[in-house]
Amino acid sequence: MLNFQKYFSEKAKRLRASEIRELLKWIQGKKIISFGGGIPDPRSYPVKDIAEIAKDVILNYGYKALQYGTTEGQIELREELLKFMRERANVKVESIDNIIITTGSQQSLDLTARILIDPKDVVIVELPTYLVALYAFRDHEPMFYGIPMDDEGMRMDVLEETLKKLKSEGRRVKFVYTIPTCQNPAGVSMSIDRRKRLLELASEYDILIIEDDPYSYYVYEDVPIDRLKSMDSEGRVIYMSTFSKIASPGLRVGWVIGEREIIEKYVIAKQSVDLCTSPLAQYIALEVIRRKVIDKVVKTWTKKYKAKRDIMLKALEEYMPDGAKWTKPVGGFFIFLYLPKGLNTKEMLVKALDRGVAYVPGQSFFVDGSGENTIRLNFSYPKEEDIERGIKILADLIREELSKK
Ligand SMILES: *Cc1c(COP(=O)(O)O)cnc(C)c1O
Repeated sequence: MLNFQKYFSEKAKRLRASEIRELLKWIQGKKIISFGGGIPDPRSYPVKDIAEIAKDVILNYGYKALQYGTTEGQIELREELLKFMRERANVKVESIDNIIITTGSQQSLDLTARILIDPKDVVIVELPTYLVALYAFRDHEPMFYGIPMDDEGMRMDVLEETLKKLKSEGRRVKFVYTIPTCQNPAGVSMSIDRRKRLLELASEYDILIIEDDPYSYYVYEDVPIDRLKSMDSEGRVIYMSTFSKIASPGLRVGWVIGEREIIEKYVIAKQSVDLCTSPLAQYIALEVIRRKVIDKVVKTWTKKYKAKRDIMLKALEEYMPDGAKWTKPVGGFFIFLYLPKGLNTKEMLVKALDRGVAYVPGQSFFVDGSGENTIRLNFSYPKEEDIERGIKILADLIREELSKK
């Protein structure tokens, strides 16, 4: 056997599989109620529609769908998405030069890191934040600063203090990464006042904002969720979204919107990564919008996900012991659970799995290493009938753990 270690780059040597990922992989195929994944209910995937579309795309677009595409993405899809953004998100961008198609938002995050982060640059994120965004950024060795959240999202007083302090230390802050609507993992949405304040602070301290927006198409309450990009008069916001939650993650199609000069850099960075996002997938995505498949999926599943959220909230109310607190999301896929201090949810996971329930311990979502007592609960994936049972099992376990303290 060769010793491959000596061939790996220094960067690759530092790469470690996450233990949580390994644990959750272990449950695949087992009869376990999973609150762990961050994934849509597979029943939401428009299988028949996409089967028909895929066939039509190959027949009608033919060579164009099977040939390499441009790195920017197929023009028809970029045009359609500009219209989609205007109509759905009130984001008005002038030209297709302001948009690039990516192989999902994960690639958008990776490219963002490539074009913006130098080692030791400061990147500001929410506490907690989306774990795999951290992975993408971490590769470029930034210094993370986490800003706590409350019911209205990222706390702007703390952000301002942090920016002030960093500035006085002469530190370079590149951007704030935020998921303002139905945050993953916290399930919190930023209030409009805070959104305005964030834009003001970005302007005052001359930083960019990365707005990651996969969930704003699934909002279950009548609350304002104006995209930061729609309020952005200076071009500081780089907006990203994806077909993953509203059609199918298997398509691997996402998009980034920003100023022309920024999008040009994304294009150059993307060339070396994958030349182009699959034109076949892009034309399927295009027809998914044109044939109103997204409207159908979102309409049906907004109701169903809302029902699942309500089942989970009710079960939490009913079974969780005193001292446990959780967020009440207006949309999206997640509820975040805060347990009394002293409980370690990473250690508890093995016992939970043993009793047939999976979740993600919250700690890895916190760049400051806190959150040992937190749990991310996903309600989009588990079956309605399993949610209550799973929460009861989890609540019983938590009660037992608490009684040992
Ligand atoms: C699901 C999700 C994405 C989507 O990533 P894709 O690569 O497009 O599937 C991006 N950001 C957040 C916060 C998510 O939850």
